[in-house]
This record gives sequence, C-alpha cells and structure tokens, in this order.
Amino acid sequence: MPELPEVETTRRGIDAIIKGQALRRLVVREPRMRWPIPADLPALLAGRPVLATDRRGKYLLLRFEHGVQIVHLGMSGSLRRVGLDEAPRKHDHVDWVFDHAIFRLHDPRRFGAVLWHPADTGPVERHPLLIGLGIEPFDPRFDGKWLHDQFRGKRVAIKQALLAGHAVVGVGNIYASESLFRAGIDPRLPAGKLSGPRCERLAQAVRATLTDALASGGSTLRDYVGASGEPGAYFTIHAAVYERAGQPCRVCGTPIRRIVQGQRATYFCPHCQKR
Ligand SMILES: [Zn+2]
Repeated sequence: MPELPEVETTRRGIDAIIKGQALRRLVVREPRMRWPIPADLPALLAGRPVLATDRRGKYLLLRFEHGVQIVHLGMSGSLRRVGLDEAPRKHDHVDWVFDHAIFRLHDPRRFGAVLWHPADTGPVERHPLLIGLGIEPFDPRFDGKWLHDQFRGKRVAIKQALLAGHAVVGVGNIYASESLFRAGIDPRLPAGKLSGPRCERLAQAVRATLTDALASGGSTLRDYVGASGEPGAYFTIHAAVYERAGQPCRVCGTPIRRIVQGQRATYFCPHCQKR
C-alpha cells in the first residue's frame, strides 16, 4: 500500500513538472473509484494551470485557482509518467494531460479517489477526509511533548495508537514497526504508559524512519513516479524488523518476532524493545 513516503515522493516527482503548467485535459476512463469521480471534473479543469502541489497525510493535493483536486492512491494505486503516445492499459483509470507530460493513475483495486474541493467551499483542510487527520510528522510542532499529550490515558497498544493516525499521520504499518524498533519500545506497551523521554525518542524515530524512506524513494525516481504498491527499495534495503520474522535482529541477533495487533502484523525484537 502506498504510504506517506511514497505519496510524498510522487508529489515531489510531479511538482517539478506540472507546477505552473496548464492541464490540457483530464481523461477519466473509469469514474467508479472509491467514490465516483465527478462527471463535470474534466470540463472544470481543462486549460487551468496547476498553481501548486501539496500533500496532507496520504492525500495528494493539486491546487488550482478555483479549487483543489484531492487524489488518494488507495490500496494499490500509482501515478506514473507515461509517454505522450503511450496507450492505456487495463486499470489505467485517469490521465492528467499536459503539453509535455502525461501522468496516469493505475489502480487495479479502485480504492483510490479523485475528488474536487471548490475554492468557494472554504480551505481544503476542512474537507471531511482531511479535517480529522493528525499532525504531519515533519511539522515543527510534532515532538515528544506532543505525543505524550496525545497518548495520555490511552490503554491501546502503542503500535495501534501510532497506526490510528490521530496523534500523527503517515506512520503506516511498516513505519510503525520500524519506528518502534528504532526507539527501543515494545509495540505492546499501552500508549498512555510511555514516559516523556521515550515519547521524545519515538518522535525522533518516526521522523528518522520517514526521512530514510523518502531518501530511498527519491533516489529511484526517474520517469516512474511513486509507488507500485509492491514493497519498495526501502524494505529490501533498510528494514530492521518488518517482514523479518525469525531472522536475527541486526543489533543483538535475537530472532525477530511477528505478532498480530488489530489484525495487522507487527514485527519487533523482544530483546531491544522494552516495555
Ligand atoms: Zn535486538
């Protein structure tokens, strides 16, 4: 599943190419995504310049003068730059056609979304999909004190509290396991029991883990933009615990354990990560 680093890598990839450029055509081949793509969207956007690109959580935002296009890659989506005469294939649902580039949304499972937020309905941050999102991990306000406040009184396991996205966005299943390993925290610890200093370590670990992922995502970026939905370079090169059950911890050699929390797999080192 594309996570925050993949979406941010995608954003950086398209930003340099489309910012300030007029969108010539939006081609919708399949409007039945997670929510239907509004039928009038191609007419609304034809000829309009993209003023800026942004990201909030895993939502990609294309800002136009008269509104914001909200794009989500769902479970299996990718946004890829294709050749100007490249024929669409199966599951290629939407094209953004510019003078010198075409970006194509490919999404076999169609859990992704392409929505429109008109400027006259207020800031896009107030959109129902965005308003409940936690703070961004690279926001300067995100630190140990922030996490400590968010987790106060919470009995849910720290791994699940991170994954929920209310305290901080973008820490998906892989990055939750990796961040907790880096911070030396047992994923089963109730979130409310985490001390201030350990919250600080966790905040730093979250940022460092996502920074590493962004660095490896950015280095593979050429004409292919963003996530394939398959495990990317990050896992194969850097994962300390994720999908390494039974293999020796890279720090202490203890076999990595796999458990299931809230129906999601969690990986951790029972020696390095303390309760
Ligand atoms: Zn270990």
